[in-house]
Amino acid sequence: MRGGPFGWLRRLVGKDEFDCRDVLANCSDYVDEELSERDAQLFDAHLDDCPDCPPYVATFKATVMTMRDLEPKTAPPELRERIHARIAAESERPG
Ligand SMILES: [Zn+2]
Repeated sequence: MRGGPFGWLRRLVGKDEFDCRDVLANCSDYVDEELSERDAQLFDAHLDDCPDCPPYVATFKATVMTMRDLEPKTAPPELRERIHARIAAESERPG
């Protein structure tokens, strides 16, 4: 069991610091701003101390933002036109 002799107690009462694994586990909530105020503070505090996590979080955030930008809200006009053309062609076909 990790976390030292009082790891169980810390899990019970809530963490007082984030380690790298906590940052990884909470990264998507952090980017979505869904962490509690306390967790967000712990997250930021770890980023201040850790050389490894800030670039990871930055990359993660950039990836999430890019994915969201690419996510089509509606079908692109070009695709809709092709679908309409296809439907028109189908309905014009005899029988
Ligand atoms: Zn870290």
